[in-house]
Amino acid sequence: MAAEAPKTPELTVLVPVFNEAENIPLLVARLTQTLEGCVASYEIVFVDDGSRDATMQALRAVHERDPRVDAISFSRNFGKEVAIAAGLDHARGDAVVIMDADLQHPPETIVEMIAKWREGFENVYGLRRDRATDSKLRRALTQRFYRLFARLGETRLPPGAGDFRLLDRKAVNALMRMRERARFNKGLYSWIGFKSVGVPYDVADRAHGESKFTYSKLTRFALDGLMSFSTVPLMVWTFIGMTVSFLAFFAAAYIVVSTLINGTDVPGYASLIVSISFLSGIQLMSLGILGEYVGRIFAEVKGRPLYIVSEHLSVDEGDRAPRKAAQPNDAE
Ligand code: UDP
Ligand code: MG
Repeated sequence: MAAEAPKTPELTVLVPVFNEAENIPLLVARLTQTLEGCVASYEIVFVDDGSRDATMQALRAVHERDPRVDAISFSRNFGKEVAIAAGLDHARGDAVVIMDADLQHPPETIVEMIAKWREGFENVYGLRRDRATDSKLRRALTQRFYRLFARLGETRLPPGAGDFRLLDRKAVNALMRMRERARFNKGLYSWIGFKSVGVPYDVADRAHGESKFTYSKLTRFALDGLMSFSTVPLMVWTFIGMTVSFLAFFAAAYIVVSTLINGTDVPGYASLIVSISFLSGIQLMSLGILGEYVGRIFAEVKGRPLYIVSEHLSVDEGDRAPRKAAQPNDAE
């Protein structure tokens, strides 16, 4: 292949991978075919998120054949959100396309995204036409989550938009400045703003393997999303507390009046136990929610690095150092 690795390519394609050995050669072939005609130069940056299969071997093989393919390998699984952050740190393109490795995101859609970018849009997101490739249960839960997010979250998410998108260098630099550990990229993409537009696409079936997201991973992700973009769960307790105290005030008045009229009334054990356990339940729940936020604050203040790289496959590392985001407000 006559390809050379450009220092600052026009486009970076960023692909987080976790146990995707079989999909890598397919994806690289489809991407190469699509990109050759439509951009001046490009690089493909794979972030291997602690895969336990032959993903790294597959990446090494494509890297040797084509120097435009880079790979960063994590020391363990850090999750897709962090893998995307790492990829953005290492991307050198004037624009970055983020996509999945399993060919569910059709590479051909990138051509339309690039057209929008050339029109001047800086945040071009793929809009999935439907979610037919997900299971019924996952679809139902996802829909609930987005409804809840729309109600509680302080950031608007375009419905149907996900990680498959093109970001202009300006947007990438903005994202690189957000070093939060509990990451919810979908929220961050909206939060940064910029001229945005959607490009519809049809979600294909996974080429090989199975979805890497278990329900427990998805639950964690949903909690991270809600808690990084909303403090409403904390505020709810203020209102519940106020309502309960208000009711207790009336209950007290009622007891005083009834004691004056009917004298003391010893029975009442059942109602006491019920109200005590009800209120303890509420208190424990509110403590739990508080704890979730405190735990997240703890994770942030420890200031650990977002990820640990164990290996970096790249041509001429020194020469092709990652672009640094301008960080004018970072003087601390
Ligand atoms: N992925 C990752 N780290 C993880 C889980 C997934 O980098 O911990 C990658 C995965 O290899 C794929 C992309 O994220 O390229 C989307 O994952 P998947 O297709 O399993 O998710 P789904 O399509 O079910 O949302
Ligand atoms: Mg997938």
